[in-house]
Parts: sequence; C-alpha cells; structure tokens
Amino acid sequence: MGTDLQVAARKVVSVNPATGATLYEFECASETDVQAAVARAHVAQGLWAELGIRKRLAILREFQRLLHQRKSEVAQLVTREAGKPYVEALLTEVLVVLDAARFLIENTYRLLRDEPIPHGNLAMKAKSGRLLREPYGVIGIISPWNYPFSIPATESLAALVAGNAVVLKPSEFTSLTAMELASLFHAAGVPKEIFQAIPGDGITGAALIESAPPATAIDKLVFTGSVATGKRIAQAAAARLLPVVLELGGKDPMLVLDDADIEIASSGAVWGAFVNAGQACLSVERCYVHRSLYQPFLAACVRKTRPLRVGNGMDPETDVGPMIHERQLLNVESQVEDARFHGARVLVGANRLPALGPNFYAPTVLADVTPAMRIMREETFGPVLPVMPFDSDEDAIRLANQSEYGLAASVWTRDRARGEATARRIQAGTVMVNDAISCFGISEAPHGGVKASGSGRSHGRLGLEEMVRIKYLDSDRLPGMEKVWWYGYGKAFARQMEALLDMQFAQGWTRRLRGAVNAAGALKPKRRLSS
Ligand code: NAD
Repeated sequence: MGTDLQVAARKVVSVNPATGATLYEFECASETDVQAAVARAHVAQGLWAELGIRKRLAILREFQRLLHQRKSEVAQLVTREAGKPYVEALLTEVLVVLDAARFLIENTYRLLRDEPIPHGNLAMKAKSGRLLREPYGVIGIISPWNYPFSIPATESLAALVAGNAVVLKPSEFTSLTAMELASLFHAAGVPKEIFQAIPGDGITGAALIESAPPATAIDKLVFTGSVATGKRIAQAAAARLLPVVLELGGKDPMLVLDDADIEIASSGAVWGAFVNAGQACLSVERCYVHRSLYQPFLAACVRKTRPLRVGNGMDPETDVGPMIHERQLLNVESQVEDARFHGARVLVGANRLPALGPNFYAPTVLADVTPAMRIMREETFGPVLPVMPFDSDEDAIRLANQSEYGLAASVWTRDRARGEATARRIQAGTVMVNDAISCFGISEAPHGGVKASGSGRSHGRLGLEEMVRIKYLDSDRLPGMEKVWWYGYGKAFARQMEALLDMQFAQGWTRRLRGAVNAAGALKPKRRLSS
C-alpha cells in the first residue's frame, strides 16, 4: 500500500468501450477514505438494523419503483459504460434487479424471522432453542465490470434488507454505473452512510479488506471477480479471519447429447457463447457435441453466427457489442491463436473489427479443439465458441469435469430424465438442462460455484443467508432446577449416566426400560458442593 499522497493521485477512468470516448474520471478512494467510509457505516448501522425488516422493505419497494421508472436511463448508462446491447442491459441488469427486489419483498420477513429448533436430546428436554439471524454489521462488496449494475445491486439489496450497511468498491471500469446505483438507493431512502460506493482500483479494494481495527473493518466480504484476484483476496481475508463469499470465474461446459435437437442446441450455443460478447461468468466456454451430431451442429452454429450484427450496443439492431477493453481482447486473441497453432479450425470469425471501433472482435466458432488447448482450459471471456466431439455420455461427463472451474454447465437432450441424470454427475454450482446462463435471472435460484469457481452463494434464500450471522438462542424452561450434568460426580452418578445412555441407545426395549429406571435417580437433587 502506498502513502495516502500516492494513493490519492491515482485515477480510474470510465470509457465507452464502443467508441473509446472518456465518460468520466474518478479519483481513487485512498486508504483513509476507505477507512472513513467503513467507520461511518459502522456508526449508522445500528439504527438501520433497529428500523426493522418491514420498514427496510418499504424502502426497497421505493427503490424498485424508482428503478422501474428509470429503467431506460440505467440500461443506457450500462450500455455506454460496459458496451452490451441495450436490450441485454434492460434484461440482464435492470430486470434481474427488479426481480431480486420482488423476491426480497415477498420472502425476507419469512426467511429472516426466528426459527425454532426442536431437538431430540432427552437429557435437555427442558431447553428450547431458536435460530436468530442477525446482520453482520458492515458488508464490503467488491464487484466486476461485466454486470456492473445487477451484481452489486442484487448483493447489496440482500445485505441491506438484512440490516447491514454496505461499502461497495465497484470495478474501476464501471464506476459511473455504481454511482447510479448509489443515487437510486439514496433517493429511495437508504441513508447515505448505509450504502456507500467508493470508486477505485485493486489497491482500493485491498484497503477495504486489510483494514483491521474493528471500527474501520468490514465484517464480511462479498467478492465477485476472477479466480486470480479471488485467490489474493482469500489470502488477505484469511489473515484477518474475515468471512468471504467468492463468486469467481467459470469455464462452463455445454454437453450436446446424441438425442439433442440440433436447431435448439445450436441456437442456445450461439447465444450462450456470444451474449455480452462472451463476457459472462456463465458463458458457454466449452462445447462438447456427440460425434453423430458434430458436423450438422457445427454447420448450424456457423449459419447462425454469420448474420449476427456486431456494433455499438446503443443501436437497437446490435446483437454483439464490444469487449470491455484492449487487454481483454488481447487475451481472447492469444487463446484463439494458440488453438489455431495446435490444429483448431476457424469456421467463422477470429478477427478484430477495427472499422467498428477499438474493442470489437468477430463472433468466432472453432472446431476440432482439444482438451489440452488453452481455449478449453482457461477462462476466455470473449465471443468464442470452441466445439469438440465426444463418443459417449461417460466421455462427455469426464471432459466436463476435467477443469479446475465449476461454476455452471448445461446438458442438451430431448430426454429430460437423461439430462437430469447427467446433470447430477457434473461438478458445478448450477447445471441447466436445455438452456444456458438464464437461471441467473431466477431470483430464487442460488448462484455460485464449486472448485476454483468460488464458495458461498448469492441470490435467493442462500444469498440472503450469507448476509446474516446465525445465533443460537437457548432458553431453559426450568430455571429453578439444577442441571443433572452439573458437578456432583461420583460412582452413583456415573452409573446413572450409563443408564441414561442405555435408555436412549441400547438395543432392545427391555434394556432401554431398565436404563430409564436406573437413570431416574439422576433427577434427585445432588449433594451440594458447598455442603
Ligand atoms: P477482476 O478480478 O480483475 O476484478 C474484480 C474486482 O476486484 C474489481 O473491482 C477490482 O478492482 C478488484 N480487485 C482487483 N485486485 C484486487 C485486490 N488485490 N484486492 C481487492 N480487490 C481487487 O475481475 P473483472 O475483470 O472485473 O471481472 C471478470 C471476472 O469476474 C471473470 O473472471 C468472471 O468470470 C468473474 N465473474 C464472476 C461472476 C460470478 O458470479 N461467479 C460474475 C461476474 C464475473
């Protein structure tokens, strides 16, 4: 970490990836700024928690109303700053958030209320237990640029409604969208200290994690981003025992079984690989097709890729927008070149489109890729659909699981039962049968990965549970009675306890009954330690 003077000098710049035009420059929040933001959040959070769920839900309803009212402005801003076609911004950013709010409005009260925990320990029958779900305090959120509105918004909604304050460090490429989210929350009635967005880069993000004194430290971190950054964050968080949710990258396989509908599966593959210019964590990144369908499937994919219109996302005719920046484009190019070098065939695409602007890459279909190629192992995060054949379902499942990632996967078949049986054997946080990506839009469905794709969940009941600490509250119904297991040990007591174990766990009713009779003595008052 540099000195404050150095840190304050850093800037992050929002650029329109379609045109290269600068939209806005932000000064990175310094370490002191980050600590001050967290400290303010801590001071305000108590009152926010005391407000109660119903009042917080009323604010959330107002947020939902305002977002609906401003849906076009928000979607346009996302398109300008992240490049995706306007209609994708409307559906995958605005609609996802409106629906996440709907889920929380309908379910938060039920999901967060105290939950009785009945128990079966006979010796402790006088005890009544409940689970309480309490806010952590201050949740830090660090988010990526590819869904710059829906990812931080859905995570923040869950955190806020549970009674937490939020400090959001958005991606350095999409600070404007994060500021728009902040202004919507504030206009809806979320106090300024309860939701704060602090612009900055990775150093700003690191400051949010490393801050140690309790008054300036976050209580939990929800991180969404690449595996590489996730590893660094997991280490920093472990050093201060900070609980984290890690929503990391993916290399999602698509399995087209021998009974799949080629027309449907190829349309799904083309959309799944090219939506958001392939820059979705749930993108179809590896496509395995049964050998009997391989050639017609490839032909269908090429036929459907050629007419896709690449261009500025503000144009309603655009299907595929630009990549976010040059570095991302270079990564895609280098993976495609590596695949070509090792024998993959380019069926369509694999070239830049400089006439359109700085960051455009043609949607690309590759055939005859192999598992050893980088394009089948590393996250590509670009508009590339690499396809290879397989010979049996066993083969396909083995190939799908042959990856360090485990975010999501899809299985395509006319036989739903077969699809579901295959899905059970795939190592992933989500497996869809006959569709890809879209369950991100189901607010009830948990989102998250296994293996290197992360841990913890966002969305739905499980996402809400990430935002609360569990407290077990135990109340004794017989407070006037000394407990059997307290001091007063001795031979007789040991025999009674043996009998107690027999009463519950011995084989056969007679031994259990005998145990019950012999254990009964333990209920008598014991010798007093003081007497
Ligand atoms: P990234 O890892 O480069 O950055 C993510 C965030 O981390 C940014 O806000 C960045 O400023 C911050 N950051 C960087 N270094 C940091 C550090 N040392 N300490 C703290 N914060 C730091 O990822 P990206 O390029 O913004 O996003 C793309 C990646 O995110 C892809 O790998 C994609 O798969 C993944 N992603 C995952 C999900 C999911 O839900 N699993 C969703 C969207 C994106």
